Amino acid sequence: MGLWVLLALLFSAGPALAHDTLSVRWEPRVVGQGDLVVVFLTRLPDAKTVEGSLAGRPLSFFPYGDGYAALAGIDLEVKPGHAAWRIGVLDGRERSIKASGKLQVKGRKFPLQHLTLPKEMVDLDAPTLKRVEEESERLRTLYATVTPERVWRGGFTKPVGVSDGGNGFGARRIINGQPRAPHAGVDYSADPGTPVVASNAGRVALVAEYFFPGRLVVLDHGLGLYTLYFHLERAEVAEGDRVERGQPIGRVGSSGRATGPHLHFAAHLRQARVDPASLLRLRLPE
Ligand SMILES: [Zn+2]
Repeated sequence: MGLWVLLALLFSAGPALAHDTLSVRWEPRVVGQGDLVVVFLTRLPDAKTVEGSLAGRPLSFFPYGDGYAALAGIDLEVKPGHAAWRIGVLDGRERSIKASGKLQVKGRKFPLQHLTLPKEMVDLDAPTLKRVEEESERLRTLYATVTPERVWRGGFTKPVGVSDGGNGFGARRIINGQPRAPHAGVDYSADPGTPVVASNAGRVALVAEYFFPGRLVVLDHGLGLYTLYFHLERAEVAEGDRVERGQPIGRVGSSGRATGPHLHFAAHLRQARVDPASLLRLRLPE
């Protein structure tokens, strides 16, 4: 066994030593279902690798300040209680440093929504059901794809210029009397044709017309973060385009399963469905 391996074992042995070496800060310290949380590792200028997880979801770290930071998403259906985290760093001298702990996850009261929709949009025939399943599978595969580069910078902007704060995140939905999946985004009421802009810099990962979301655009902001824009009247970008924050990407419409013209805006981070309001609140100065 080489000296370096021995040193690595010594340094990874005691949690007290690890905490002395690794400065970990979570913001906020208490989170709710659907929240975004940021973890900062400070005074760590020369790490070779930084990795970790929160509630079983991997964290994607990026260099930040004199250390590293990562965004983490608390899925809207995560059980309230304590979410375990662990972080491992291999420093410039090949020493392994570890830290672990728990974050408190508070339950959140989600509204209950009763909706009445045309029967053919709810009770699907076999071919439509097959189509919906294939589309969901394609979206799941996309959200599981992690682009290793961080493309987003600074704050996230509201995708439509309306005073409406957006509503319905996490709503438990009863559609035509049947319980359905919770609403994983926010809805902004807006006139048809209202411009929709990119919430932050990203790459257009998907432009499509799907049964429930209608005409849609998905932006990949890197490190497993995606924003979703549904029910568009039209899309004004193509897959592969690079977009900047505030750049028009489409127009508000009522395509797909929509009760009227609105933008459905959602965010996925490492497959966690997070509240877009939490994304818009995020302040991470360059
Ligand atoms: Zn919606």
